[in-house]
Amino acid sequence: MFTTARLRLTLWYVLILMSVTTIFSTAFYQLSTREIQRIINRIDFQLMAERTPDYPHPGPLAGESGRRPPSMASIEELETLQQRSLINLVAVNLFILVLGGGGSYFLAGQTLRPIKKMMDEQADFIANASHELRTPLTTLRLEMETALLQKKMSANQVRQVISSNLEELSSLEVLTNDLLRFSQIKSHYNNTQLQKTSVESVLQRAIKKTAILAKHKNIHLNVHFQPATVLADASSLSECFTILLDNAVKYSSINQEISITTTREKEHVIISVQDHGVGIAEAELPFIFQRFYRSEKTRSLTDGFGLGLALAKDIVTRHGGSISVISQLKHGSTFTVTLPRT
Ligand code: ADP
Repeated sequence: MFTTARLRLTLWYVLILMSVTTIFSTAFYQLSTREIQRIINRIDFQLMAERTPDYPHPGPLAGESGRRPPSMASIEELETLQQRSLINLVAVNLFILVLGGGGSYFLAGQTLRPIKKMMDEQADFIANASHELRTPLTTLRLEMETALLQKKMSANQVRQVISSNLEELSSLEVLTNDLLRFSQIKSHYNNTQLQKTSVESVLQRAIKKTAILAKHKNIHLNVHFQPATVLADASSLSECFTILLDNAVKYSSINQEISITTTREKEHVIISVQDHGVGIAEAELPFIFQRFYRSEKTRSLTDGFGLGLALAKDIVTRHGGSISVISQLKHGSTFTVTLPRT
C-alpha cells in the first residue's frame, strides 16, 4: 500500500513539474520562433530589394552594420537554429522528466514516511491491545468450559470459578479503561489549543485524583512548589501527572512517602515525583516508556497494562518537554518532567 501511494504521489509531482516546464518551454519556443521568423522576413525583404532596384530598401538589420550582406545561406542557418532549439528544448524536458522523476520519488517517500510511521504504530497498538484482550478472554472461556464439563460441582467450587472469572473481568475492565483513556486523551489534545497554565493548578488536580488511593495505603504526599506557568492543555497535562502519581502510589508500600517538587529555572520548570517503592531494574529502564511494557517484577503486584508511561511521555513531548527516570530496585524511583516556561 505504501509503495502504491508513493508511486501515485510521484506521478502527481512529475505531472506538476512537467506541466510547469512544458508551459515555460512552449512560451520560450514561441518567442524565439517569432524572433527568428521576424529576422528571416527581414532578410527576405532585403534580398528582394537587392534583386529589384525599385523595391524600397529596408536598411541594415539591428547590429548588422559592417557584416557580410544577408544571403539565402543566412536564412538556412536561422532555420537550422530554430530546429536545433526545438530539439534542445525537447532534450532539456526529457532530462527534467528523468531527474524530476527520481527527485519526486524521493520526495514522495519523505512526505509519506511520517504517515507510514503513524500507521505502523497504530497497527502495532491494535495488535498489542488485541493480544492483551485475548489472554483474559481465553482464561474466562477455559474456566467456564471446564466448569460446564463437570457433572457435579459443590457450592464452594462454583464460588471459586465465579471469583476467578470476576478477576479476569476486572482485568478486562482495567484494560478497556486504559485503552479508552489513551484514545480519549489523544483525540482531546489533538483538538485543543495550548494555553498559559499554572503548573501548581495542574499538579493539584492530579493530586486530588490520586488522594484516595494514597490515603488507602496511608501514603503521605510531600509537596514543594515554586510557582511557574507553562503553555499547556491543562487537562492532558494533569492526566500525565496523575499517571506518575498513580504509579508512585501503586509501586510504594504502605506508610511510605511521596515527594512532588517543582523547581523554576530560567527557561524551564522541572517537576519531579519521587517515591521510595519497589524501584525499577536498570536493565528495564530503557523500555518502561514503551507501550504495553510491564516490568517482570511488578507484573504480579498490580493491575495494569503498561500504557500509562507511554501516554505520559506522549503528553510531555506534545508540550515540548521531556521525561526521564532515575531508579534503584527496592529504593524507589524519581520521574522528572521538564517543561518550557512561558
Ligand atoms: P502500568 O499500568 O503497568 O503501571 P505504566 O506504563 O504506567 O504501566 O508503567 C510501565 C511499567 O513501569 C510498570 O509496569 C512498572 O513496572 C514500571 N513503573 C512505572 N512507574 C513505576 C514506579 N513509580 N515504581 C516502580 N516501577 C514503576
